[in-house]
Amino acid sequence: MLDPNALTHLKSTGEPMLTEPMLKQINSQIANQLNTGVLVIDDEFNIVMWNRFLQVHTDKATANIIGQSIFTIFPELPERWLTRKLTSVLQLNSPSFCSWQQRHHLFELPHTRPITTDSEFMAQNCTFLPIETDCAQKHICILIEDVTDVCHYQGQLQKTLEELAQMSRIDGLTQIYNRRHWQESLAQEYAKSRRHNKKLSLIMLDLDHFKLLNDNYGHQCGDMVLTEISALVSSLLRVEDTFGRYGGEEFAIILPETHLAGAMELGQRICTSIATASLNYNGVAIKVTVSLGVAELSDDDSRYEELITQADLALYQAKGQGRNKVCSAAFVTSFPLA
Ligand code: GH3
Ligand code: MG
Ligand code: MG
Repeated sequence: MLDPNALTHLKSTGEPMLTEPMLKQINSQIANQLNTGVLVIDDEFNIVMWNRFLQVHTDKATANIIGQSIFTIFPELPERWLTRKLTSVLQLNSPSFCSWQQRHHLFELPHTRPITTDSEFMAQNCTFLPIETDCAQKHICILIEDVTDVCHYQGQLQKTLEELAQMSRIDGLTQIYNRRHWQESLAQEYAKSRRHNKKLSLIMLDLDHFKLLNDNYGHQCGDMVLTEISALVSSLLRVEDTFGRYGGEEFAIILPETHLAGAMELGQRICTSIATASLNYNGVAIKVTVSLGVAELSDDDSRYEELITQADLALYQAKGQGRNKVCSAAFVTSFPLA
């Protein structure tokens, strides 16, 4: 502690306000009260001093660490990387920085936050400052800032943003992709198949007489059917296929690297699976069928929308032919409007 009497004495005698030992005392007290780790090393990376923050956050005794290499005292340090960093600070005589985003932590100091984090160690921002002293040797001061809270809340924010992004892609009722995301996926798959000269097929699927089902059993039953059918179709697809709700009771499936025959085969499997599925609403057995239109990207198609049009044409044909069936765009040239 500073002696207030000594200060008064210095003032009255006209001597400099603070002597070297007093300045040292002040610096040491500030360093020890900082909520940041302070570690000073010489140009051979031996520890010259550290502050109370580091004493509190490690189980090492000061007597055992002074004069020792930081790589001996902190064996967890990435030696090659840090040696390069420290050498450049000394050579360029300019500060350097390492954020927790680059490296979560350098020193394995346990964090003391009552929060659950992904790491058992304190997240750190580390600053490396070149220090000039009277002695010939150069020194580096390493400031270790505890940013565990920042890291934790940033992680939470990132997770929430990802959840929001996922929600914006998903249809609330059926939990499959919504129209917007499905269409973006189609645009991407179209570009990919053009670039790599790969096949691409599409299935459009519409529930038969769904209005009647709503009228007979109510909208809640209709909602249940939409959800069940979505789950059933999803179970028949590959991971690379993209299944989306195109409209009310209309669905669409993008099939990358699939030719027409393969898409027709899948369409038929979906048609049969739905027609034979046993759905149940409040103890009542519900029978549902779907009509499907299938199209394959042709060399003439210059936009992905043309693939949708082709599959739509085929779907209308399936409806026209009595429903509960699969039609292919290969044999359709125009809408059967009559
Ligand atoms: P078609 O065989 O020609 O396709 O006849 P449809 O009755 O299925 O076709 P239509 O277009 O006449 O009726 C579609 C119905 O789907 C009307 C609409 O109320 C219903 N629908 C659309 N979205 C939903 C939904 O989210 N929930 C429920 N329960 N019904 C929906
Ligand atoms: Mg319908
Ligand atoms: Mg419809």
